[in-house]
Amino acid sequence: MTSAFLENNPSVLSLKGVGPRIAEKLSGIGIDTVQDVLFHFPYRYEDRTRVLAIGALRPGSAAIIECVIDYSQIAFSKKGKRRRMLVCHVSDGTGSLLLRFFYFNKQQESRLAKGVRIRCFGEVRYGASSYEMVHPEIKVINGNDCELEKSLTPVYPSSEGINQGLLRTISEQVLQSLDDDKLKELLPDKIIKKYNMPLLSDAIKTMHRPEPGIDLERLFEGQHPVKQRLAFEELLVQHISLLLMRKDINQCKSLLLNSDDRFINDFYKQLPYSLTNAQNRVIEEILEDVLSPGAMMRLIQGDVGSGKTVVAAVACLKAIESGYQSVLMAPTEILAEQHYHSFSEWFEPLGIQLILLTGKAKAKERKIKIEGIRSGKVNMVIGTHALFQSDVIFNKLAMIIIDEQHRFGVHQRLSLRNKGYDKGVYPHQLIMTATPIPRSLAMTAYADLDYSVIDELPPGRKKVKTSVMSASKRAEIIERVKQSSGHGSQVYWVCTLIEESETLQCQAAEDTLIELQNALPELRIDLVHGRLNLSDKQSVMDKFKNGEIDLLVATTVIEVGVDVPNATLMVIENAERLGLAQLHQLRGRVGRGSSESHCLLMYKSPLSENAKQRLSIMREFSSGFDVAMKDLELRGPGEVLGTRQTGDMEFRVADIIRDEYLLNDVKETAVDILNNYSDRVPLLINRWLGRSDRYGQIG
Ligand code: ADP
Ligand code: MG
Repeated sequence: MTSAFLENNPSVLSLKGVGPRIAEKLSGIGIDTVQDVLFHFPYRYEDRTRVLAIGALRPGSAAIIECVIDYSQIAFSKKGKRRRMLVCHVSDGTGSLLLRFFYFNKQQESRLAKGVRIRCFGEVRYGASSYEMVHPEIKVINGNDCELEKSLTPVYPSSEGINQGLLRTISEQVLQSLDDDKLKELLPDKIIKKYNMPLLSDAIKTMHRPEPGIDLERLFEGQHPVKQRLAFEELLVQHISLLLMRKDINQCKSLLLNSDDRFINDFYKQLPYSLTNAQNRVIEEILEDVLSPGAMMRLIQGDVGSGKTVVAAVACLKAIESGYQSVLMAPTEILAEQHYHSFSEWFEPLGIQLILLTGKAKAKERKIKIEGIRSGKVNMVIGTHALFQSDVIFNKLAMIIIDEQHRFGVHQRLSLRNKGYDKGVYPHQLIMTATPIPRSLAMTAYADLDYSVIDELPPGRKKVKTSVMSASKRAEIIERVKQSSGHGSQVYWVCTLIEESETLQCQAAEDTLIELQNALPELRIDLVHGRLNLSDKQSVMDKFKNGEIDLLVATTVIEVGVDVPNATLMVIENAERLGLAQLHQLRGRVGRGSSESHCLLMYKSPLSENAKQRLSIMREFSSGFDVAMKDLELRGPGEVLGTRQTGDMEFRVADIIRDEYLLNDVKETAVDILNNYSDRVPLLINRWLGRSDRYGQIG
């Protein structure tokens, strides 16, 4: 291969063994060019560099052993279908082991006969009487030793139709050309010297083919210089691209909203409470944004119940009284309905035209609504994903509110933004989330946003005492409900199911209603679930609010927006199946009055290790911030922020929690590179972000 091979970065088709069909499959996992091969890193390694003694094996890890077959037999599995299998008993003088094969032919059977010396590679597991390997790779040894690998064997992220063998041979080919054709360093020399970094080519080689003696733990923990170098460069590129995007946005024109606040003042007058200091502060920040050039792009973080909705309402009013339209987007229909309900109460008295637009709208009704949006007759639109559709055209959109940001990707955010685009003018955007974004995340995932925190709950909120109980104690729990109602407080009983099916959830809630009515005949019990229409739902909720219902059986519908201070006990069924964020949302429905509140998390045994951890986090921590931080630790930022599918936060090497300590240096270096080495920026972006052309540009 010529020496400019890597620099020219040809398609993978130039590699041996890669034809159009395989190239297409590789493209599916993000590998299009030879450089992509280098930046597709293994996620673990196998050690085929040495032979282990059977006596030294540890279950759960994979190893090579060399052994003699003591005897082989055909056996049948005892459990389930009687499956025929070949079992070889082997030993090496330090111990013995079973090899188990479910798929084998006559030839293999006769080859694995008594006395034959073999080398096996496989994962060691606990068996009934000794360790075993199921379907190990096998080599018969005739006389001279067969060779061992010189470096650890990489295992790559892959998908159907691409086997590890292929990924290893193509990476081998590209790594060989790396030997005589070093990959161009794009970080300035002074940076490499300053942080004492290994060279990019060496770092990449180590990642793909580590020496046997390497400290794998340090490599995984991100403490190895090789990993640090790559993580640094990746975070740097991510940060640079977001800074560019940010710059782009700041250069866009936006609508100055300089109205006289008459709607806002009327709105304040009709609110039954005064705003918290935190709410007032964030509102000020917003009003400042919409009066200065450049579209507002602000993220508001506030724990469940901190009162983000009123803040959003003020932002919408500012746009409306300035003669423009506002839109509020919620991630679910139920949330959208709840918001619609609150906004109607607030906005109708002010003479503001508002509508709800969700996927449920019938064609005719939808057409009328869309016409209202297009003509400008409608001032305020509340809706769901249905708003993304291309036939929804705004007349003069100036304010976009997105509730619970973490369920939408950057892409969707931008696509809604473009709805307001008119001759280079962008609408203002406010994004509200209950998920606290650690500094590191805010910087990397949201460098395009300003950031406000509502770090204060409305007065009177109480810490909720949380306990975890097995579903086998159901009778005891029902007794707790009875006692609690006896003291005049109200109770939520939340039914959840893992099935996404709303029908099944509602069925479960209906069954529970009957069960509880039988067990607690003295209580007034009612039911609310997602299949009720908006007005039925509202009438049940109103009754609960007015104290005409003692016990409310519900599905996760009540996750949001319900505010009944007299409710002091919440029972959540199948709590082990819910995520921490959702449990925290639900729990936020109690603890709103002056008496002590409780939350009972019911689970069905057996609990997985992960579920056990989640439930104890809920028991231990009450602030949404703590819960979310633990959630981040457990699941990783991609899962928590729901960006995994959209790929916004997929890092190849970096881990923004683990590598947070790098961020100050990353920030400083990013500015240096943008100012002094701007010719390298497109190369860096292309190298790390490849074809993800969403970076650094909008719309
Ligand atoms: P979230 O931040 O979770 O979206 P909401 O906006 O739904 O919270 O507010 C939760 C509840 O708190 C609502 O019932 C709302 O009316 C109430 N609330 C909001 N702000 C205040 C306040 N300053 N004082 C008292 N109650 C408030
Ligand atoms: Mg909310």
